[in-house]
Amino acid sequence: MKKKSWYLMANVPTGYTVTKCDEDFNHVETYYVQYERGKFYCSCPNIHAPECRHIKMVPIFNKHRAVGKGKFYCYDTEEWRMVKEFE
Ligand SMILES: [Zn+2]
Repeated sequence: MKKKSWYLMANVPTGYTVTKCDEDFNHVETYYVQYERGKFYCSCPNIHAPECRHIKMVPIFNKHRAVGKGKFYCYDTEEWRMVKEFE
């Protein structure tokens, strides 16, 4: 079975940070999704994809009012988890 990745999103002045964690909520990597000239850009290595999953998660987090709230999202299963220590 594929291991789960959890994502946490927070606001920064130029856009968002997307923090990737493993299934035990250990930090793996943080990406920056920046809004510039009407378009989102992501700092992840997946630069050839027109829209990576980090950019796709921005409207999802906003819809659930989960930005900066300590709510983790699993992109593959669409599950949400609250983790107290990240609030
Ligand atoms: Zn990305």
